[in-house]
Amino acid sequence: MLCPPLEPPCERYLAGLPAGVYLLETRVQGETLRPEKVLFASPRLANLASPGSPENLEAVLWDPLRIHPEDRKGLLESTRRLLEGGNEEWRLFRFQRKDGSYLWIKEGLSVFERLEDRLIIIGLWVDLTEEKKVSDEARTDQPLWLSLFGKAPVGLILYDLEDGRFLYANPYALKVLGYQLKELQGKRVWEVVHPRFRREIQKNLSRRAKGEVSPFFFQDLTLITKEGQERVVSLLTETFQWEGRRVGVGIGVDTTPQRILERRLMEMAFFDILTGLPNRHLFLEKLRALTLRGARKRERLLVAVLDLANFREVNATLGYEAGNRILKEIAARLCAGLRKDDVKSRFFADRFGLIFTDIRGTHSLHVVLQKVQNLLKKPFRVNDHEVVISVRIGGAIFPRDGKTPEELLTKAEVALKRAKENDETVGLYSTEIERSLSEEAFLRTAMVEGLKRGEFFPVYQPIVRLSDRRIIGVEALIRWRHPRLGLLSPAKFIGLAEKTGFISELGEFILRKALEEMVPLVRENGLFLCLNFSARQFRETALPKKIERALEETGFPPEKFHLEITETTAMEKAERTLSILEKLRSLGIKIVLDDFGMGYSSMKYLVEFEVDKIKIDRFFVSNLLSGEKSQYVVRTIVGLARNVGARCLAEGIEREEELRLLQEMGCDEGQGFLFAPPLEFEKFRELVKR
Ligand code: C2E
Ligand code: CA
Ligand code: CA
Repeated sequence: MLCPPLEPPCERYLAGLPAGVYLLETRVQGETLRPEKVLFASPRLANLASPGSPENLEAVLWDPLRIHPEDRKGLLESTRRLLEGGNEEWRLFRFQRKDGSYLWIKEGLSVFERLEDRLIIIGLWVDLTEEKKVSDEARTDQPLWLSLFGKAPVGLILYDLEDGRFLYANPYALKVLGYQLKELQGKRVWEVVHPRFRREIQKNLSRRAKGEVSPFFFQDLTLITKEGQERVVSLLTETFQWEGRRVGVGIGVDTTPQRILERRLMEMAFFDILTGLPNRHLFLEKLRALTLRGARKRERLLVAVLDLANFREVNATLGYEAGNRILKEIAARLCAGLRKDDVKSRFFADRFGLIFTDIRGTHSLHVVLQKVQNLLKKPFRVNDHEVVISVRIGGAIFPRDGKTPEELLTKAEVALKRAKENDETVGLYSTEIERSLSEEAFLRTAMVEGLKRGEFFPVYQPIVRLSDRRIIGVEALIRWRHPRLGLLSPAKFIGLAEKTGFISELGEFILRKALEEMVPLVRENGLFLCLNFSARQFRETALPKKIERALEETGFPPEKFHLEITETTAMEKAERTLSILEKLRSLGIKIVLDDFGMGYSSMKYLVEFEVDKIKIDRFFVSNLLSGEKSQYVVRTIVGLARNVGARCLAEGIEREEELRLLQEMGCDEGQGFLFAPPLEFEKFRELVKR
């Protein structure tokens, strides 16, 4: 708060001050006053009167020769009025500087002390040269000048350095403080200062009374007005000797309006407008401070990010207004329910950030996480609706998971993402996530490279008619032969390819390859070809076009092409899926519902999508012999397929017993290790030939 003189902020302050100030001891000489000693002059004044080369100010100020001849008479009159008992004067004149140039100066004079033969005068200079260039009217507008007196652009105070008593305050200073001059003169300077500055001011005063330091600059000094309100001022103080006394002079400007504006700007930059919570920026700053402290005190921190699972639906169904109300309520509950020094923040939309300090052991970790969940469990009331919000939380621990704020936040966000993927409420960052992440990053690039290098290829699993075990079709399944990792099954990479969108390139490759390889076998033996498609591929509206083109270019008969989708694919964006399926069906392509029984299938989809075939999931087939339930399910699915006019296929048949049961139930087709595993193209061709 305190800074030594002429450090950069002080310099800026002085340059920016709208007025120069001086204190002049004058001696009465007949009809007029003669300047005797400049007790104090502010740098701004010296700069106005004598820029560049400082002159003896006693000789310069009030020197008639420096005043434009037309203005001299007016000045003499105003000086006489002071001499005759007047206390204040405002005057406008042209002042000639050493280089011959004139300045338009508005000068305010005020009598500080009136002694028998001397007057101590406080002078204030405002440079109006620029304004005068614009308008000449001001010169004759005396009442305006007078009214400006009360609004003099700087405050000026004089005080006794020995006892700290106010000696004088100009109208500006009085207005800021809200006192009359008489009231103020009974006070000591530190009494009008905010308590948190008092000691500092007293110390400074006593050091300056001893002549130790001077001048001094206070950047943001908070004053307390008579009404008890706070005002922020910048104040430059200087000391001068007078009549054996040390007198302090302070020149200040009220910066409260700027401070209010700055605070608003700061609030906008650091706080979330909707909830008033710190924003992500401030969150990171606080986290930075806490990690530094944590490192010093060996303290563990929990950094948590919180996300609402169903906020988009709330916005969509109840409107943004309701959504905002809920966000505010969440902020309020977090603030009320968590400890004061736990950091709560809103980053954007429905994403919140929390920092918990002093986390000891897993117990307290789980306690705080549970607490957060409990706080948000109670339904939210908006417009007579009860809204239940389900939250997800991801967390990372300092110092275990990261040292820097950015790292910790990223890891908490990764943990949140994982929790979402696994459909869990709370997820903490772990070494397991770490490993899978680096594995993922590796696989991600390896996949792209691998496709270019021809490491992907389809294998073919025969599909047989159960009644006579004849091969009637084939399912193409993708494989990846990585030069170092060896042969990889789709379970290792399909999920990631779906997540990154790479599946659309990969899918197209497999489609082309399988069509090319299979086209002769299909033509000669009448086999059909099944191919798997993921939900992600169904998001492309161009999918039917792609398939159509591939069929045309390879000369593959569309009616022998079976497209496999899972129930979940069918359900996701059912409208769009339906329209894509319709287009495909119009080409003659058949639709197969894969993994049936494992998803959320409903009759509705079955009927609406008009599937041609249902594949009973391997799970039920492998349990056929051990559980009655599975037998019941399989029997039901077989019947269901028949009722909707679809064929039925059983996957994963491994034993003769299973086959027998399925035959008995009336299942049409099957595939599984009992007949053949997925085979590479050459092997498959040989098998078909035999
Ligand atoms: P899916 O479509 O259910 O494929 C059947 C899976 O069962 C294949 O696993 C197959 O090798 C395996 N299987 C076949 N017979 C038996 C058996 O008798 N016993 C057992 N235990 N398993 C058997 P695979 O090849 O590992 O494929 C796994 C999944 O990857 C597939 O499940 C499919 O969802 C996906 N996938 C495979 N290729 C592609 C592809 O080209 N595109 C897309 N989008 N997904 C594919
Ligand atoms: Ca399949
Ligand atoms: Ca399947």
